[in-house]
Amino acid sequence: MHKGTKHTKKTGDEIVNSFFIPKETIREMNELNHKTAVNGKEHGMALCLSEDRKVVPGKSSVGDYVSIMVPETCKGKHDKYIGSYHTHPRPSETRFSAMDLLSSCDEESKIDCVGMNKKGEIECYIKRNQGKSCQDEAKPFVDIEDTYVYIDPVDRETVKTALLNAVDNFTEKKFKSKKIL
Ligand SMILES: [Zn+2]
Repeated sequence: MHKGTKHTKKTGDEIVNSFFIPKETIREMNELNHKTAVNGKEHGMALCLSEDRKVVPGKSSVGDYVSIMVPETCKGKHDKYIGSYHTHPRPSETRFSAMDLLSSCDEESKIDCVGMNKKGEIECYIKRNQGKSCQDEAKPFVDIEDTYVYIDPVDRETVKTALLNAVDNFTEKKFKSKKIL
């Protein structure tokens, strides 16, 4: 039915793998970056595929200072959930946290994007290949992340840095990424 749907890429639109992300969607993502800059909380929204095969915003949500639950709900009746977008107040980077990695390993997630606590930077991640092992391998990283609170603050930064680097390496192995803003 959608065969032959062709999008003409205009300035500001982006294509990540096979996903066409119109500039209107990127603008909405960037608005959430701005909200995070204002209140320091994570903001996010579902990413959905519209009937005409464009990546469009789904339902949005607000998290706290360190995490967020993004609804897997689309706005349009015929939109299909394909992933999520969320912002990072701190550290102000578009890298995956261990929890981001785990949730993006989920088979329902086809594309996941992360933004910063100021306007102008968004990075999208797509799995290199679909496999059950992604979640199994990502789980131990989350287990370590969950122990942060029990670690002596003196050692915490060292553990955090080591974990983030390990998550980075794993992310690079399993995902392709592209900055779309
Ligand atoms: Zn995150």
